[in-house]
Amino acid sequence: MDLKAKEIECLAEMLAECEYLLIGLGDEWEKAGQDEVRKAYESLYNLVGQKDYFIVTTATDARIFDAPFDEKRITAPCGNINWFQCQKACTKDIWERDEIQDGRCPHCGAVLISNTIQAESYIEEGYLPQWKVYQEWLAKTLNRKLLIFELGVGFRTPTVIRWPFEKLVFFNRSAHMYRVNRKFYQIAGEIKERAVPVEGDSLEFVCNLREKIENQGLMC
Ligand SMILES: [Zn+2]
Repeated sequence: MDLKAKEIECLAEMLAECEYLLIGLGDEWEKAGQDEVRKAYESLYNLVGQKDYFIVTTATDARIFDAPFDEKRITAPCGNINWFQCQKACTKDIWERDEIQDGRCPHCGAVLISNTIQAESYIEEGYLPQWKVYQEWLAKTLNRKLLIFELGVGFRTPTVIRWPFEKLVFFNRSAHMYRVNRKFYQIAGEIKERAVPVEGDSLEFVCNLREKIENQGLMC
């Protein structure tokens, strides 16, 4: 999976020069163990540095919020386990963990459950405000130097990250994408010029990239 020295150099340069950095996080980040994921988020935080970035994640484990990212630059459209909704979806209200005393919906008394796509009736109001912020941010990247890291995103919910990212690269000729995945790293023909497939674990990729960039003094 290791990128060659030349490719790292090229990637570091792109990272330094891009105006916008878009990061998509998928299944691999949700499945990873605690230590591994903590280290990877730390490395990712280090890589984004002072960039104008945005992160879209399909992980619902909320572990990304343990890292010092700006929460206004994250959208988690599949929900997150730190937020709660009425199991019967009698209301669109969302509660945070510490707002719940008895774990019951104040409106109907039903049990409160995590506000994620696993919920029988998923209340989308939880993620929509940040999704809107993301769409506005995306609009700014039009025809600008946009670097995209698609990390560990499979085909579980391809309409959230995978397909829209391909579209972005297709329409923005100043965009470049790195698609890192253990299995699904393949890139379709029409965006091949501006997209690089990397076969391998995306968390390892992030940790290795940070290490290599720092060791070679290539950090932007
Ligand atoms: Zn209720």
